[in-house]
Amino acid sequence: MIRIKLRCPRCKNTMLYQSKDLALSEKHKKCVYCGKNYSIKDNIVHDR
Ligand SMILES: [Zn+2]
Repeated sequence: MIRIKLRCPRCKNTMLYQSKDLALSEKHKKCVYCGKNYSIKDNIVHDR
């Protein structure tokens, strides 16, 4: 299981996305805060 932190491009809230694999290129997530559907790969938060 992979956990990825995402940031919504509209409301800027962050949320965790869990996936069984890294095939994220075509996937979208619905923001739990504002309901916007956004592209996962374009909104990954890279933690240091
Ligand atoms: Zn949002």
